[in-house]
Amino acid sequence: MQYLPILQHPDSRLRVKATTVESFDEKLANQADKMLATMYNANGIGLAGTQVDFHRRLIVVDVSESRDGPITLVNPEILLIGETVSSEEGCLSIPGVHDTVKRSDRINISAKSIDGSTLEMEAEGMLAICVQHECDHLDGILFIDHLSSLKRKRINEKLKRAPES
Ligand code: ZN
Repeated sequence: MQYLPILQHPDSRLRVKATTVESFDEKLANQADKMLATMYNANGIGLAGTQVDFHRRLIVVDVSESRDGPITLVNPEILLIGETVSSEEGCLSIPGVHDTVKRSDRINISAKSIDGSTLEMEAEGMLAICVQHECDHLDGILFIDHLSSLKRKRINEKLKRAPES
């Protein structure tokens, strides 16, 4: 399996808003497979199409400890139904940076599965937070956008100083 290159902040392609998936074909299934392999290889818990320069609304996640619970969501729509909680996040597109972000601890998800069938689920805890993070990517939003401008400035300066880390 060939891994997909993951775009790194501040690549402007991370700011592209992804468009709705219309065809549930083999090409889409292959893309999801490659994204899952790339996510596992990078030890990530989620990856959005946007991060691999595929600007359609497709995300993959796996928050299981055993790394055998892949979830693929196409055209995901989320409804925040929980309490706001703070937790530490990182991102494969911003390596070495972790910070606390406020998100809902419970969400309703409406999406399509990879074969185009309708998928409705409720998610909580880390899965809920991860799906919110990945859905943000599809709208060109990074987790650092949720931080104060001062924190974001510090992060961007740090990344400029050490682009390889
Ligand atoms: Zn991310």
